[in-house]
Amino acid sequence: MNDPRRQLPKISVLLDSAALKQAAGEYGVTLVRDAARETVDSLRRKLVGGQSVEIPSVEQLAASVAQRLNDQERLLLRPVINATGILLHTNLGRAPLPQAAIEEICRVAQGYCNVELDLKTGSRTQRTRSVEGLLCELTGAEAAHVVNNTAGATGLVLSALTTGREVIVSHGQLIEIGGGFRLPEVISAYGAILRPVGTTNRTRLADYAEAIHDNTGALFVAHPSNYRIVGFTEQPSIQALASLPDKVERNLPLIHDTGSGVLRSIAGYDFGDEPVASQSLQDGADVVLFSGDKLLGGPQCGIILGRAEVIHRISRHPMSRALRVDKLTLAALRATLSLYRTPETLHETIPLHRFLKTTTEELVQRAGFLQGELRGLPDLLEVIEDAAYVGGGSLPEESIPSVALRVRGQNGSSPEELASKLRLGDPSVVGRVQGDALILNLHAVSPHPWRDQGQTELEWLAAALREVLQ
Ligand SMILES: *Cc1c(COP(=O)(O)O)cnc(C)c1O
Repeated sequence: MNDPRRQLPKISVLLDSAALKQAAGEYGVTLVRDAARETVDSLRRKLVGGQSVEIPSVEQLAASVAQRLNDQERLLLRPVINATGILLHTNLGRAPLPQAAIEEICRVAQGYCNVELDLKTGSRTQRTRSVEGLLCELTGAEAAHVVNNTAGATGLVLSALTTGREVIVSHGQLIEIGGGFRLPEVISAYGAILRPVGTTNRTRLADYAEAIHDNTGALFVAHPSNYRIVGFTEQPSIQALASLPDKVERNLPLIHDTGSGVLRSIAGYDFGDEPVASQSLQDGADVVLFSGDKLLGGPQCGIILGRAEVIHRISRHPMSRALRVDKLTLAALRATLSLYRTPETLHETIPLHRFLKTTTEELVQRAGFLQGELRGLPDLLEVIEDAAYVGGGSLPEESIPSVALRVRGQNGSSPEELASKLRLGDPSVVGRVQGDALILNLHAVSPHPWRDQGQTELEWLAAALREVLQ
């Protein structure tokens, strides 16, 4: 009778509690029952092992089961406030989507849509037709194709154009983008043979010319996105490569992986030495590749532009089917591209462009707002000058003047602890630890109403800080 195990509540009683009824509504009864069982079993094991354990009440046990479930489910794929100062952070989903793209996704997602149907004729069409015309109009390309990212686009282009043949690449462009994308490995994985030419810092036109022979499949130029070779350097222009006599005679494709996705030059923007797709095409590249979620500011996808005959071969390749984009991506891409028809408002319509145009004065105002909201804690917060970066492999050397909050923890708690608490909060805030403080860069923290909430990201950030600092 005195066996404490008898005092453990029945699972059915736990499931009847208010906390677990609510949890079951959210996560389903199976998951909740399993979690309740695990919690009770672990208590029982302790009792069997002779540990003296205080038996919690039904309410306490139910609350701890619900908490455990929340912790496990809540942290997966959720909104985050990006206070890292990296505007295109691959781990944080790169470019936030324009409002127009979000609305278009909702419109298309609610029911059926004619993703592969020509409404005029009633017959089947090419899936990416909804964006091809726009891409050609905006860049001057003859034809366009879209797959689900640039790594996929690279694989598809190599498979369609170069299998079993040599791909000529400058030694200085044998890049690793991160996340397992190493150009030499990519080239061999898709059945082509890497033919590196020149040296790390200098590659001449003659190096390319000498490497061309009967088994050459393509000339490949990769933008060294995330690093720069400076000093005593040389790399022939796209124009020079496009008009190499052997290349022209043999009708070899010149493939240009431009990475970041600057569609065309836009008045008022300086994209440094990032290649511009329309220019590359005009200079004679046969195929141009870039990502949709970098400087373009749209959804994740790999955009392929170029000569009609080459694009045709690429889009008809069997691998194209395996890399096809879904209707939601197409809807978001179409909406984003449409915004480029009015380039003078891009700084308002595309979040990434809005960040690029944010002035230091605006950022100082944001910092002032936060200081006002956190008046009681002045010695823990300091407004500092900081640098923001485009990120995502774009413009690696060009820092953007920015402003950040330097935060120290209460009672000597470490910046790592503070960073962890903010990450685990709701909403989650991601900053960066630097020395003995946590830095919260304000460049991508929007002062506009956030998502479907009435509050702004700045207000959320203030609330999150108040929570962890008090
Ligand atoms: C980013 C990048 C890629 C990979 O693009 P994903 O869209 O991430 O697949 C490939 N090449 C270059 C030059 C890049 O900058």
